[in-house]
Amino acid sequence: MARVVEVPDYPVASHVAIDPARTALIVVDMQNDFVEPQGALFVPDAPATVPRIQQLLALARAHGLFTVFTQDTHYPGDPEFPIWGEHCLAGTWGWQIVDALAPQSTELVLPKRRYDAFYGTPLDHELRLRGITHLVICGTVASICVHYTAASAALRWYQVIIPVDATSALHPFDLEAANRQTAFLFRGILTTVDAITVEPAAAAAAATQPAEGAR
Ligand code: ZN
Repeated sequence: MARVVEVPDYPVASHVAIDPARTALIVVDMQNDFVEPQGALFVPDAPATVPRIQQLLALARAHGLFTVFTQDTHYPGDPEFPIWGEHCLAGTWGWQIVDALAPQSTELVLPKRRYDAFYGTPLDHELRLRGITHLVICGTVASICVHYTAASAALRWYQVIIPVDATSALHPFDLEAANRQTAFLFRGILTTVDAITVEPAAAAAAATQPAEGAR
């Protein structure tokens, strides 16, 4: 029998200013298998997030944010297949990022093998090379690859920012649990796409070095 639990309240910020020099946009697994109805692991709420992610990409491109597209990537016999069925097989249509969010040549497409985009990939290296300290993370699935990437980022002390209307999950419980964990456990900032502005000066002030005595 299903149990009923109350979702603890968590804050959703009405305004978040980001510094383009220190912030990267991470678009997680917006691939045909997850986003298109004929995909192998279709997430019914994912198509509605495409326009929201297009808005984030437009903002990132206008201000020169470093942008990463993660790409779930598997090969025949992958141990994830008994869990999820065959999906995102390298080189197939389902593996490709949806046309509506096509990466540009200056943006990094990052193949990954597990939910966490840091695991077994050069993502941390690529971010640190560029002095990135803040990550805006969107895409799908909110409680799986988005969440484990956000958690992994937070464990490395990146400041995580998740526009909740640019993520999608398979079940509302999973979505709420992921959001609650991000806000409560990882002190990530939950917000919406419209609430994000790029303000170099304001964000630079917010990201100042630790006070004296911290060293
Ligand atoms: Zn997978």
